[in-house]
Amino acid sequence: MHEAFIEVLKCPICNSHLTLSSSTKKIGTIIVRGTLKCPTCGRSYNIISGIPYLSVLDQTEEIIAERYGLLFTYWLNNYFGNKLYGLIAEEELTEFLNSLGIKEEYLNGLWILDVGCGVARLDAMLALKGAYVVGTDIHTALPLVYYYIVRSVPKVMREGKLLIVNQDIHHLTFNKEFDIVWCEGVLSYVRDPYKAVINLVKLVKDGGMLYIWAYGRTPYQVSSTKVKLSKLLRRGRLISKSTSPTRIFKLASIIAVPYALTNIVRLEKVGYRELIFHLYDILIQEYITFLDISKLTRIILRNGLEVRYIKVHDSSFSLLAIKR
Ligand SMILES: [Zn+2]
Repeated sequence: MHEAFIEVLKCPICNSHLTLSSSTKKIGTIIVRGTLKCPTCGRSYNIISGIPYLSVLDQTEEIIAERYGLLFTYWLNNYFGNKLYGLIAEEELTEFLNSLGIKEEYLNGLWILDVGCGVARLDAMLALKGAYVVGTDIHTALPLVYYYIVRSVPKVMREGKLLIVNQDIHHLTFNKEFDIVWCEGVLSYVRDPYKAVINLVKLVKDGGMLYIWAYGRTPYQVSSTKVKLSKLLRRGRLISKSTSPTRIFKLASIIAVPYALTNIVRLEKVGYRELIFHLYDILIQEYITFLDISKLTRIILRNGLEVRYIKVHDSSFSLLAIKR
């Protein structure tokens, strides 16, 4: 992490500013290893391989973090090709801009928070366009993500444009408000989505935007086959909290075969490995909530934002809100 980002971080427990301890390994302005201390509550947080660790996870979240770690390690090793959730890099950036209704030129100098950043491919692109980007996630492959970015686009780290931080949505706090808070595909998979959304809302600055994509209780809601399958496998005890990520990955690889065959019949352009990715992504979840969109909207309005749009898809929705 670039040292300039220290002033952005806060203690996830007591919300105080953090200070860097003296025994720190630095390369220029980049902190590779060190400890952040909270002078108020006395807790300390490690910086390992350039990543500050500020998450406060329960046992279930630790399990999910490890499972996602496996998925993103495979992705970074190119097992799934260049698509991520069905999109190549340029499409991911275009989707981001279109969802917010902004042009690329507008990104320069903006502060963007990406909650659930995954492999941070989008974040690196936004940083290259001149934005200051903070990407948060809890998965165990974050150090790999860090080195992947340092190798592929060192400039964004060197210039202090991108911070990757291990921080969970239930303890999200920064000494900064953001022009854009982006949360795609995360809220449906967390312990308490309605509480978590308040943390997102608080981090939007005046005039700033909050974008959410999640599964919702929509009028068109079709019961997702993947979600049904996940429940079935749990009922049959083929998956439980103690099932290792590798075993779930094997299960996803087996189940993807009939899916792939159906796709050949339908002539859809989704590859076998991409199907494994999508299946695994659902099978690993310990929490799956189809959000009550009205309830979520009420929380957002109550906390001072205006809803610009809600677009309902089959089982999911996207929402854009603005802070006035
Ligand atoms: Zn503290």
